[in-house]
Amino acid sequence: MTPGLVEAAVQLVGFLIVAFAFAEVGLATASRLRRFSYEKHSYDVSLENLEERLMTARVRRVDRERESRSWNGIRKFRVARKIDEGGDITSFYLEAHDGKQISSHQPGQFLTFSLKIPDQKRPEVRCYSLSDMSRPYGYRVSIKRVPPPRKQPDVPPGKVSNFMHDNVQEGDILDCLAPGGDFFLDITHSSPIVLIAGGIGLTPMVAMLNAVAERGFDREVWLYYGVRDVNEQVMVDHLTEVARQNSERFKFNMCYSGTDISTLPPDPDINRYGERVSVDLFKRTLPSSNFDYYICGPPPLMDSITHDLREWGVPDSSVHFESFGPASVTKTPKAEEVAASAGTNLTVTFAKSGEEFQWDPAAGNILAFALDKDIDIASGCRAGSCGTCVSAIKEGEIEYLKQPSQKPDDGSCLTCISVPKTNIVIDA
Ligand SMILES: Cc1cc2nc3c(=O)[nH]c(=O)nc-3n(C[C@H](O)[C@H](O)[C@H](O)COP(=O)(O)OP(=O)(O)OC[C@H]3O[C@@H](n4cnc5c(N)ncnc54)[C@H](O)[C@@H]3O)c2cc1C
Repeated sequence: MTPGLVEAAVQLVGFLIVAFAFAEVGLATASRLRRFSYEKHSYDVSLENLEERLMTARVRRVDRERESRSWNGIRKFRVARKIDEGGDITSFYLEAHDGKQISSHQPGQFLTFSLKIPDQKRPEVRCYSLSDMSRPYGYRVSIKRVPPPRKQPDVPPGKVSNFMHDNVQEGDILDCLAPGGDFFLDITHSSPIVLIAGGIGLTPMVAMLNAVAERGFDREVWLYYGVRDVNEQVMVDHLTEVARQNSERFKFNMCYSGTDISTLPPDPDINRYGERVSVDLFKRTLPSSNFDYYICGPPPLMDSITHDLREWGVPDSSVHFESFGPASVTKTPKAEEVAASAGTNLTVTFAKSGEEFQWDPAAGNILAFALDKDIDIASGCRAGSCGTCVSAIKEGEIEYLKQPSQKPDDGSCLTCISVPKTNIVIDA
């Protein structure tokens, strides 16, 4: 073998050894990478499982705590602070009179008050949304003074709202039922949300926003708050501060229907619009329609927004609304179906007076029908949550427009969310 050949053979062997070594290292690295990727995947899956289990445990704990601290019937609360928010709205901070812990509530729920007003035959029952998230100190409600209707200036102004403003003072004791209602934000989810408030409809939205802020803005929030002018707006300093601290996750939009916004001092944390809140505005400002929507405001705003969201292709399951009156019950497709199924040839008899009437489906529910016929049934939320309008059914059957939060005893019904299924006799 010539020296040249020997050198070539040595080089070849050397090359093969180096190539083999590289192949070994490559294979080992690939196998390690595979193992690492598999382990990372398993780790991710276990982490997800763990997070899910933690979330379930947290929800169960919150539910258990809520149940253990909730109460049946009336509980006494002391007005700890009374704050004028402007815009004819006053906030009342309430502490449990017994000094014990209060039940936590879901952001969006309301408290039901049973108020003894002097010269009044029986207590007046009204619901007020909790305007802050669950806090250890107690509850906060924010109440707007209700004037007589514009077209009937001579009738008395709102009984309870004005009584709260004018007569209830710090230190006074009020009777309340436990928080309730099924219009609330599920804080265990993190899907992006749009909060839509008209006027005093802001109260449940502030509770929802504060609950998200407390969780470090684990979801994106867009708030559209509609008022006529700056005199009507409340809690704007608080909302602006939340927007300033969380500009990436919280977009604060103010809509003025009766103000030239060029006259307002600029504020980088507020997007101002000189128009009503509308789906048209959402189309111009939101990145997509892919949100959960929470709406509370006067009936025309709620009607137009819910209608136009449906037209925009937003599924009904993503639209949640509360009206500070009976509208929220009868507007759902299910309720409309049940109401339409109640025949027109049914009779409703009121046992105490013995009066019998032909059922009128246009009344919407038995309570409204009774009040229209001057039959006195006490009522509160008119949404099936507070239980004030419960009445015994002496004969016949009713059907619910929506499932009550708490079913009354057999033989009774919540008249505000029911219609007759057969001829009925009511103990009223
Ligand atoms: C779930 C829920 C949550 C709510 N949350 C809030 C909240 O956070 N903040 C808030 O401010 N409100 C809230 N409300 C509304 C609140 O419950 C009351 O309905 C509101 O305060 C009006 O009650 P009132 O007693 O002052 O008025 P009412 O005495 O019930 O009077 C209502 C209207 O009827 C008029 N009226 C009186 N007599 C006559 C007559 N003879 N003929 C014609 N009209 C007459 C009054 O002038 C007034 O305009 C909520 C309601 C619900 C159902």
